[in-house]
Amino acid sequence: MSSPANMRRLGRLRVLQALAEAGEVSRGDLVQLTALSRATISSLIADLIREGVVREEIAASSRPGRPPLVVSLAPAAGYAFGLDLGHDHARLVLSDLAGTPVWDDTVEIDVDSSAEDTVAAATELIDAALEDTGIDRGTVLGLGVGIACPVDRRTGVLRAEGIMPAWVGTKPAEMFTERTGLRTLAVNDANACVVAERRYGVARGCDDVVYLRLSAGIGAGVVCDGRMLLGHDGLVGELGHISVDPRGEVCRCGNRGCLETIASPAAIAKLLSRSWGRLVTNAELMALVADGDRGATRAVEDAGDAVGRTLAMTVMTLNPRLVVVGGELAAAGDVLFDPIRRALRRNSVGDLHGELQVMDSALGDGASARGAAALVLAEAPNLLTIDKV
Ligand SMILES: [Zn+2]
Repeated sequence: MSSPANMRRLGRLRVLQALAEAGEVSRGDLVQLTALSRATISSLIADLIREGVVREEIAASSRPGRPPLVVSLAPAAGYAFGLDLGHDHARLVLSDLAGTPVWDDTVEIDVDSSAEDTVAAATELIDAALEDTGIDRGTVLGLGVGIACPVDRRTGVLRAEGIMPAWVGTKPAEMFTERTGLRTLAVNDANACVVAERRYGVARGCDDVVYLRLSAGIGAGVVCDGRMLLGHDGLVGELGHISVDPRGEVCRCGNRGCLETIASPAAIAKLLSRSWGRLVTNAELMALVADGDRGATRAVEDAGDAVGRTLAMTVMTLNPRLVVVGGELAAAGDVLFDPIRRALRRNSVGDLHGELQVMDSALGDGASARGAAALVLAEAPNLLTIDKV
């Protein structure tokens, strides 16, 4: 185990992990972070610079005098795709090694009703991204998929019954690997969102976060004590299917009065369509709220109240410091957030949760795709070490 080649591989991995965590650091910092000798660090860095994996530059914030050099991962040394599969769209981002998106596009597609067509459309997006950017497929470390459906943590099978009918029993990671040749991992979209907000958004530095996505589907990603909670079947955070009105509508999951039947944009638009006797689309709903329409405002406020009551149970159970609310409905702003905060305060023990904050997502609709790519990039130190030394 302790052959020179193994030691060198381990050293390289530690350097890459330190750079992935810390961003820009000096060689001296690397000695501290990795507990490797200065000579070993120098030799490893020389290799990594020669390969184009790492770069060394004058620090942007350096003081006059001798400029300190900082080492960081070279953004173009590797890329990751992040794909967000909602119920009615597929969004693809291509992120560089630093997590910066270099390509981003969305197609509208009926994801629920055809797995094959969705995989084909996403594969076309992948090809278009590579062609537009001129990035070599060989530098892509993998594909992360955030999907609006629970993913069985042990088998990778979608728990799609009643949620995405055409995907029942499928393993999206295998389907995409077969089709694209890319190493693929698939997670629930809300889990991808919480990763993105912690890495790039409003939850940076926060170890106790609940991310709630209010879109065509409603779900939450939960990080507790710095770790993503998945649960026995990977079903943690299925808040969209908590019953908040026992006499409400029967939900597609078979339960009754689920949060999703009350607080998804489609449910609110349907409520208004019924009341007004004409079709109200999701886009029109958001425009009506922005214009201060009384009926639309009232419907979103009531949805916010139901969301806040549901979140109160979550807060009492998990004790997060931060609740991030994203998804399409978050665009309603204070009309949504005020009743959420009010219901949350009224239904939890306020004094115990003095530091709790409810915030709008910083990354908006892009969170799931960026987070899915970030999950691939988290593996970069390993992938850039295996078979390299
Ligand atoms: Zn339901």
